[in-house]
Amino acid sequence: MRDECKNIWQEACNQLKNILSEDIYERWIAVIQCREISGNKLCLIVANDFYQSWLEENYLPMIRKAITAISGREMEISLSVDRDSFNFPEKKEKATPAFTPPSMGRKKESNLNPNYVFDSFVVGPSNQFPHAACMAAANTPSRTHNPLFICGGVGLGKTHLMQAIGNHIAAKKPRMKICYTTSEEFVNEYIDALQGSALPQFRKKFRKIDLLMIDDIQFLDGKNRMQEEFFHTFNALFESHKQIVLTSDRTPREMAGLAPRLVSRFEFGLVAELEKPDIETRIAILRKKSELMNLPVAPGVIDFLAARISSNIRSLEGALIRVASYASLTGKSIDLQKLEMLLRDLLDKEQLAIISVDAIQRAVADHYGLLPADILSKKRTQDIAWPRQVAMHLSRTMTDHSFPSIGKSFGRNHATILYAHAQVSERAKEDSSLRQTLSVLKEKVKRNCSQAQT
Ligand code: ADP
Ligand code: MG
Repeated sequence: MRDECKNIWQEACNQLKNILSEDIYERWIAVIQCREISGNKLCLIVANDFYQSWLEENYLPMIRKAITAISGREMEISLSVDRDSFNFPEKKEKATPAFTPPSMGRKKESNLNPNYVFDSFVVGPSNQFPHAACMAAANTPSRTHNPLFICGGVGLGKTHLMQAIGNHIAAKKPRMKICYTTSEEFVNEYIDALQGSALPQFRKKFRKIDLLMIDDIQFLDGKNRMQEEFFHTFNALFESHKQIVLTSDRTPREMAGLAPRLVSRFEFGLVAELEKPDIETRIAILRKKSELMNLPVAPGVIDFLAARISSNIRSLEGALIRVASYASLTGKSIDLQKLEMLLRDLLDKEQLAIISVDAIQRAVADHYGLLPADILSKKRTQDIAWPRQVAMHLSRTMTDHSFPSIGKSFGRNHATILYAHAQVSERAKEDSSLRQTLSVLKEKVKRNCSQAQT
């Protein structure tokens, strides 16, 4: 019995080790003990209720899946707290011992990227407003917008702008205590403090800061316990008029698992959103980067990159570096065909990123002589139901959106989308004229979406 328990858990750990990063594994899985198995019940134990709630919120489904796969049957898994079964005299040597004092204030110790300054940030219509808000926060911290909440999609400059505030203040007001961290690090530090019985120090550290920057706060979405801790830190700083800057890939309101009192706190100052840059800004960014990084590229190349990559500035930068290193390695100038080849993966990713469900709905409606509203309506007649299924299928194949998210765009649930996707795929196998229609539609959507970008 005990052996079975040990073996299953050992095997599950091996599997999880392959899926998770070493750090996550050590932090979250290695701390679990398997107590017993009886029938279909498996009982896991952890040392405190923080582990329990965190594991339940984040890793339990993964653990269940691994155990089910190994034991070959659906297992019911319980996770309970038993302090006595654990004695952690010392944590494993790799993890940070208990709690390390903060590295704040002095610039050489700060973890800010020195390249992320206002001077290297290109301003255009897509980011003018967040840029101005960040400049104001940098020049008169805690007196203009507090908190300052910067949001926008991946690779649009949130971290750059946030750190520009930090770098600016570090240079102008060296006595100010600055802390830049990601919300994930904030959480990890909290846990280390918890384990090393250093919570008071943890709280004190964060509450002594003059400028607190927390990047990617969306990580706290749905994590109640951490939100609670963060709420207290936030209030303490806010009440003593310290500047707080936060970033997120969505607005506070769009974080469904964020406690309402935090939503209203986050919205209290200013929420500034970064948009995708237009083509002029993309060209300007590429010129600036090639100058700053000393990467000579032909003007034609810059135009090509700016025209073809528009959804993410990080990809734009990656493409530039790739082309420049190709040129310097081979000593050859690069033609259009080579460019396409060299950047295939980035261009494919871009394609996925720029295509919207909305554009698909419009193109499909147009093709079948309908209105987009018909596609979204509840009408079930065949002349509407079929094109609607085609649009659902294309949304699944042409974007990287999930079934539930596509469901939302059609006002249906995810099962409807799944069903439509399967229906159309099945039919297309047999029906060559349907295949033809689908490929015409795809071309049309791609064309419309790339035109909309430029
Ligand atoms: P995010 O945090 O929003 O994912 P980052 O701030 O990491 O994005 O930006 C991604 C890359 O794009 C960085 O190298 C950054 O310097 C660059 N970048 C983004 N916006 C601009 C801009 N307006 N001007 C210059 N570089 C930019
Ligand atoms: Mg970032």
